[in-house]
Amino acid sequence: MDRCPACGEDEAYPALAPGPSAYTVICAVCRMRGPVRDSVVGAEEAWDDLPRRKDAEAQKARAERLAAYVRADLARRKAEAVARALEGAAGYREADRVAQDALARVLSATGDILPGDLGETSQ
Ligand SMILES: [Zn+2]
Repeated sequence: MDRCPACGEDEAYPALAPGPSAYTVICAVCRMRGPVRDSVVGAEEAWDDLPRRKDAEAQKARAERLAAYVRADLARRKAEAVARALEGAAGYREADRVAQDALARVLSATGDILPGDLGETSQ
């Protein structure tokens, strides 16, 4: 049988409950009683089905897994933000290269260099 859901001790035993063919499980330490059933096996199964606090080790392990997940998720989000920024910069550089190529083609075709082509507005 599982440990007592109230005190956590492993001292529970099947016992007769008031009524015909009535059995329960009682904790010898804190006297908690389980559900009444019509057989010892039924009473023990009902005792085992009672909700229990997860033991401290299981809770700690779960907290550690959660913390690791949160850290990994944060790192992933940061990496995605950096990747988006790099993509944006690459797109800008590509657009700039296309514009420079276009300007170079115009200049080689006409042989003219206009102040505006060089980004100069006054001369
Ligand atoms: Zn108990």
